[in-house]
Amino acid sequence: MDPDRGEMNPERADALRALPSVGSLLEVDEVQGWVVDSGHGVVVSALRVALDEVREGVFGDEGSVSPVGASEILLRARAILEDQAMLSLRRVINATGVVLHTNLGRAPLCEEAVDAVAEIAAGYCDLEFDLETGRRGKRVSKVGELLCALSGAEAAVVVNNNAAATLLILRALCCDREVVVSRGQLVEIGGSFRIPDVMAESGAVQREVGTTNRTRISDYEDAISEDTAALLRVHTSNYRIVGFTEEASLSEMVACAHARGLLVIDDLGSGAMFDFAAAGVLGGVSSEPSVVESVTAGADVVCFSGDKLLGGPQAGIILGRSELIDAIEKHPLMRALRLDKMALAALDATLRHYRDQGRAVERVPTLAMLSATTESLADKAARLERLLSEAMGGEHFLVGSDVSFAGGGSLPGEGLETVVVRWRPAEVGAEEIAYRLRVGTPAVVARVNEGSVVFDVRTIFEHELSLVARCVATCLDGN
Ligand SMILES: *Cc1c(COP(=O)(O)O)cnc(C)c1O
Repeated sequence: MDPDRGEMNPERADALRALPSVGSLLEVDEVQGWVVDSGHGVVVSALRVALDEVREGVFGDEGSVSPVGASEILLRARAILEDQAMLSLRRVINATGVVLHTNLGRAPLCEEAVDAVAEIAAGYCDLEFDLETGRRGKRVSKVGELLCALSGAEAAVVVNNNAAATLLILRALCCDREVVVSRGQLVEIGGSFRIPDVMAESGAVQREVGTTNRTRISDYEDAISEDTAALLRVHTSNYRIVGFTEEASLSEMVACAHARGLLVIDDLGSGAMFDFAAAGVLGGVSSEPSVVESVTAGADVVCFSGDKLLGGPQAGIILGRSELIDAIEKHPLMRALRLDKMALAALDATLRHYRDQGRAVERVPTLAMLSATTESLADKAARLERLLSEAMGGEHFLVGSDVSFAGGGSLPGEGLETVVVRWRPAEVGAEEIAYRLRVGTPAVVARVNEGSVVFDVRTIFEHELSLVARCVATCLDGN
């Protein structure tokens, strides 16, 4: 309560006295509807907050002193309830063209994965139960078998993400021993994941060799000592070193390590399950090392993300020789880093598509987006342009070519030719439009370029096209 209340001018005192009580507001029909939807306590507290806000306006120096009616309080209360009802994670339509957008949740899941998550999440499942014997079972046995069948690895285990995978591998297999890594591969992924920091956290001792642009196999050989446990290769997922460069091949590293009884650990990052170039994904342009290639070359342990090029849920996949995977599974950190049942269900359903490469390219959204042809993109852009023009007669939308990126630490520097719809709004600035689209429901995230809003159709799903037109029309309402 305001300590100066005694000195309040009479007009304000009257306005305050005229405010309705919570009890009387609760009797309004509309409010009773809210109580049914949200519960009595939630509505009462929203009404109290709304009343407090109004009182503050009445007490405040600049507040209006005109009487405030019930309708204004209800308007505020409704806004408070709507704000509270909004979930903290909101749906976004990705019109940026960046397929694996880390800030937008990376890989959208395939239909089968979504269905599997819904079914498993809503009830009980055989997560750690063997239905044949009725006894306790292993959490990842079936997904593990599938991963081995797809990659040729002996054993597999999955954890929360690839950062966890790297940490766990180094901790379980290399703690207190040296790990040799090229200076050209000391990567940072998205700020918080840095190889030197992960290494330090794992208890392994980092032994850097070579230079930023050139590291030879002899550099690794020279660095090996009695303390060495492994050679580590890290895929430079988000940058490329070009020009006067040299890197030891994985096969050379394997030969060098195995001759000395050491391990080779391969952090692949993005996890292209098969040779994308050969399969025609990305129009055959690809420099992503594949999982199969790495296993075949003889890496002892290989790890990669579930939600980058694989197109599944957030996960870290570890493949390798049985006794090493065993040691990793038995490490106490495993329990802290293990995957939950929903992610496991989604990973399983996503991996199933990979039994047939053509099917994977068709059904896994990230692969379908990355391999979309210019003709199909042009067709999609033409349809979006038509929907937008129909919804907004006075505005001009132009279909044109542009470049999109894989993102998410995959295919650095490799732009993909795409088709976009460009819009220079007649009366509102492009930045303002982009802002309104972002805060709308659903949110639409588009690029802004030279005064135009740019919609890249590569990452907009077919079923979202008319929704984009509606969101754009809504954000112009009231102009
Ligand atoms: C992306 C990436 C990671 C981290 O993977 P998350 O699944 O994001 O935790 C680790 N190493 C490399 C090489 C990567 O590209």
